[in-house]
Amino acid sequence: MLFQPPLPAKYAALTQEELADAILQRKSTLGSRVIILGHHYQQDEVIRFADFTGDSLKLSQIGAQQSEAEFIIFCGVHFMAESADILTNDRVKVILPDLSAGCSMADMADIDQLEEAWDFLVDACGAEVVPITYVNSAASIKAFCGAHGGACCTSSNAGKVLEWAFTQGDKVIFLPDQHLGRNTAYAMNIPLDEMVVYDPHQRNGGLTATQVRKAKVFLWKGHCSVHALFTAAQCDEIRRLDPECRILVHPECSWEVVQKSDLAGSTEFIIKTIREAPPGSKWAVGTEVHLVSRLADLHSDKTVRSLAGIQCLCTTMYRIDLKHMLWVLDELVAGRVVNQIQVDPETKRLAVVALERMLANVSAQPVAIN
Ligand code: SF4
Repeated sequence: MLFQPPLPAKYAALTQEELADAILQRKSTLGSRVIILGHHYQQDEVIRFADFTGDSLKLSQIGAQQSEAEFIIFCGVHFMAESADILTNDRVKVILPDLSAGCSMADMADIDQLEEAWDFLVDACGAEVVPITYVNSAASIKAFCGAHGGACCTSSNAGKVLEWAFTQGDKVIFLPDQHLGRNTAYAMNIPLDEMVVYDPHQRNGGLTATQVRKAKVFLWKGHCSVHALFTAAQCDEIRRLDPECRILVHPECSWEVVQKSDLAGSTEFIIKTIREAPPGSKWAVGTEVHLVSRLADLHSDKTVRSLAGIQCLCTTMYRIDLKHMLWVLDELVAGRVVNQIQVDPETKRLAVVALERMLANVSAQPVAIN
């Protein structure tokens, strides 16, 4: 995790109203030179200043389409700001308001571990292995996939990307989220006993030679700390308390939870499903709590609640707040760029290869909200 130095004391003294007024004023001073991108999991107080909202890849694509913007303030986590830097041209500077906003899942796969895993698997398999990484990963992991015949995927297109991968090789290593990998492969009729978990903290991933030979998919031992909080027991409890309530979850949830749900899909799928659901319908949603609360507020003609009784929030996304947003804007007004996220040119080039292979299979349309 990167270190975020403390902000000057004056920011702590400002009220929420003063912060909001100052942000509007700085935005107006900078005009079209700056855009603010807000991920769906951000708090409402941050989202209200976003020029665009979306999931990580959609926001990066929106950023890349802005011809006038010189600065992108990315209200998300570190790998998202990296993706925006990869997809935008060198003129655009991408800023993460708080450098300590990382992603626990992305941090579960580093490039040294992947290189070690690759050497072992390629040696042990005697077969063509294709590396596929969820976009929730470091730029170096995306670049590795680009350099080794693989691709990126999102939670919306993981199925199509995996189908493509099996036209390129016999086996796939999927990282960093074992759950998205398992749920996607299972939906493609790959049986669970043809998937094995590769644990980067164990010698040879903790796998025997027989397991390596038999497996079709190697699932990296990573997970999202938010979606891991949803359990099969919570699904059973909802069914018991309210049989009419439908369960809708993100595929970063475990296989057991996805199997017990009525529907599973990406953040955009969850938003669309609730938007299009009939009035009076009831939903228990297994994803980040800020999005669930926003959906409940936006669709008061339906009952929308979290699948979990506890607060499943992304604590690193939560680090982005109005104080940090105002600080980076103040610095821009003063002619200084702070917290810029930069990916080196070679990593960028190879990561783009992995992203382009993904986009050759699918395309995501950006949506502007204001
Ligand atoms: S919700 Fe999970 S995957 Fe998304 S940024 Fe937070 S920890 Fe990472």
